[in-house]
Amino acid sequence: MKKKVGFIGWRGMVGSVLLNRMCEENDFEKIVPVFFSTSQQGQIGPKIQGVIQSKLENAYNIEALEALDIIITCQGAEYTNAIFYKLREIGWSGYWIDAASTLRMKKDSVIVLDPVNKNIIEKSIHNGIKNFIGGNCTVSLMLMSLGGLFVSNLIEWVTVSTYQAASGSGAQNMMELLHQMGAVHTSVSKELESKCVSPLSIEQKVTKVTRSEILPKDYFQVPLVCSVLPWIDTHVKYGQTKEEWKAQIETNKILGSKDKILIDGVCVRVGSLRCHSQSFTIKLRKDISISEIETILSSHNEWVRVIPNNCNDTLHNLTPTAVTGKLITPVGRLRKLSLGKKYLSAFTVGDQLLWGAAEPLRRILRLLV
Ligand code: NAP
Repeated sequence: MKKKVGFIGWRGMVGSVLLNRMCEENDFEKIVPVFFSTSQQGQIGPKIQGVIQSKLENAYNIEALEALDIIITCQGAEYTNAIFYKLREIGWSGYWIDAASTLRMKKDSVIVLDPVNKNIIEKSIHNGIKNFIGGNCTVSLMLMSLGGLFVSNLIEWVTVSTYQAASGSGAQNMMELLHQMGAVHTSVSKELESKCVSPLSIEQKVTKVTRSEILPKDYFQVPLVCSVLPWIDTHVKYGQTKEEWKAQIETNKILGSKDKILIDGVCVRVGSLRCHSQSFTIKLRKDISISEIETILSSHNEWVRVIPNNCNDTLHNLTPTAVTGKLITPVGRLRKLSLGKKYLSAFTVGDQLLWGAAEPLRRILRLLV
């Protein structure tokens, strides 16, 4: 019998990408979907393969949720905290699949990224684990691009600077960035058309606008347009943010590492719309050649692409513009740093809504049904 699967958060960035991918892969043929909303109960459901789904159920209705075999939520941490424990307390024993970070580090949860940890996932299903959680987007994308080096136990430590897209914060944030872009352009549109205005006066006008109250900033708190924001999520301790804290702890959980791999860095929000980029300094456990490294990386999974370290290939293949909407996870700028033969640089780009969020969830759902 087909499993009854409840979708919560399908209207957001991750949820809408998930539905698109499920349509592309004909996943809906294998399940009976039920759509929920926290805010639009009773309104019409999404169109799936040309068919409008029945009215939206209330995502807080425990009885309706209890009737499901599987719940897949892309709604966020607040929803998980409000509902997950209530359902388990009343004895619901279905599978809980989640994009939010809330349950990732719990003992009875597995972080899913099957091209990297399929063995752990399969073992945990066999052992009766019921909670399957998507990893942090930058962590999953790092492992999709650099997985070969990690699973070959060639990495001693990593430092990373991230360049995270606006949509990584959700639909409303991405829209806010676009509104900020529009307001900045409007403020200097006449000057841009005129040939005799000095670029410095345009810059000064734009800077004044970004420091004024004109730009919308309800979601990012400050303008992201024409700027970068070197702080993502809350403070943990010793000046580290939660986004930065996740890198080491989640990576080692996904890999099931015996020897902990050290990872730390600075996470930064930038003005790209979709796709997270990351710049790495990697301390290798031993000196191996760049061509060996390229072979190890490219043979790890079918989505990784090694981009030759030259200007043309880098600019055309290793940017958010080139990678957005694609499942490939390119890695380039591979070279030994002048620090020494065991020090490698790498730059990765990956769609944080695909392999960074929706795709691992889609694939665990497929495995479970
Ligand atoms: P989101 O875009 O903010 O959507 C979450 C919910 O907000 C929607 O399901 C919808 O719920 C509501 N919503 C309110 N106004 C909306 C609007 N104008 N358009 C669409 N939805 C609107 O959140 P998200 O980025 O998908 O993130 C969901 C979870 O995934 C979070 O826990 C996040 O941390 C995690 N995650 C996100 C990413 C990413 O790249 N964005 C990557 C990895 C993990 P109702 O229909 O119930 O109102």
